[in-house]
Amino acid sequence: MSREEITPASYLLPHNMIVAVMAVTPRALLAFVTLLPRTPPGPGNHPHLSPTEKWENHMSDQLHAAVVEKFNDPLAIKDLDLPTPGPNQALVKLIASGVCHTDLHAAHGDWPVKPDPPFIPGHEGVGEIVELGPGEHSVNVGDLVGNAWIWSACGECEQCRKGWETLCPNAEYGGYTADGSFGTYMLVDTRYAPRIPEGADPVEVAPILCAGVTVYKGLKVSETKPGQFVVISGVGGLGHVAVQYAVAMGMRVIAVDIADEKLELAKKHGAEFAVNAANTDPAEAVQEYTDGGAHGVLVTAVHPQAFGQAINMARRAGTIVFNGLPPGDFPAPIFDIVLKGLTIRGSLVGDRQDQVEALDFYARGLVKPTVKSCNLEDINDVLETMEQGKIDGRIAIKY
Ligand code: NAD
Ligand code: ZN
Ligand code: ZN
Repeated sequence: MSREEITPASYLLPHNMIVAVMAVTPRALLAFVTLLPRTPPGPGNHPHLSPTEKWENHMSDQLHAAVVEKFNDPLAIKDLDLPTPGPNQALVKLIASGVCHTDLHAAHGDWPVKPDPPFIPGHEGVGEIVELGPGEHSVNVGDLVGNAWIWSACGECEQCRKGWETLCPNAEYGGYTADGSFGTYMLVDTRYAPRIPEGADPVEVAPILCAGVTVYKGLKVSETKPGQFVVISGVGGLGHVAVQYAVAMGMRVIAVDIADEKLELAKKHGAEFAVNAANTDPAEAVQEYTDGGAHGVLVTAVHPQAFGQAINMARRAGTIVFNGLPPGDFPAPIFDIVLKGLTIRGSLVGDRQDQVEALDFYARGLVKPTVKSCNLEDINDVLETMEQGKIDGRIAIKY
């Protein structure tokens, strides 16, 4: 609902409500008017609350968030002022947020391009729009949307023009350059915020917004065809959904990790063969099982060693896709890469169409993340458990 769409009739309110409105700031007035239920009540529109109650609930709230104040320090749980949505933006009241290993990299300042503390991590947020910024929007108050790693892109640069908004040099990243979903509210860019499919469980769907779309895109660019072998190296938050997408896309899945529990989970989700790289040479095992190597290899692991091993798991003319982002380097054997005609490709999340498709796999029941929920206050324990590699599937904060 935009400011321009507010008709004079919107202001024809009972007398006591006008008094209440006069006592507040222009922003609150706009928020109030924006929240009036001019669309029929639907899911998430809180038909049981009157507009005044809904406005009071929302405006009395603060942003209760986990904040990275300094790299490597525990996140601070704080109450902050609610942010104001600008043009193309909406304020979203969060219901759930997945915790991605990227949030851990962000909190540690692991990468060469660092975020700027203080900031709020989180880019697998799912919530309800409670306020729209000025201007036109293609979403309404009450709609369920998410934030994603690609929080926004410029739409104007060469990469955006070519349909590669994920590579836009002017992009904002959710939970990195733009405050994210580790809090009770967040801002989204309504042009880029993923729309959550009807009937989705907010906790269960959250990991699709980063883990899901990332591996779905990674599998597409691995060019592995139905019936061919794909290795999923690293069966954590990303990898356990990668196994499911690959199975749904008709691939024969081999899982590699360094923990037996992760391999069990991979088998539960449809992997036909699993290798524990902590006690078996994964390249040798994969070469033998596939009689010459896998057609595609998707690396989601958080150790550089897995990247080097991936090259020797690939079949001649195979494609290796790197999704994982541990800091560091790995040795790459030039001879093998040239002689086998290998393609090695980095892949970063997915564009908005990939996101729609990834969510559709979830909505059709083809992909079902294994998720446990936690409270915002548990975030430091969750990040520590993630660092130890002890999370099976994903953990999502439930607000
Ligand atoms: P996670 O912690 O949930 O899972 C990591 C998995 O890697 C664990 O199961 C762990 O046991 C496994 N692992 C560790 N060392 C290994 C090894 N030597 N061989 C095989 N497996 C090993 O992490 P996650 O949330 O799935 O994220 C994984 C990585 O992907 C992170 O680096 C994250 O930043 C990155 N990521 C990239 C993108 C992208 O767009 N490219 C998007 C999201 C996340
Ligand atoms: Zn992520
Ligand atoms: Zn751009």
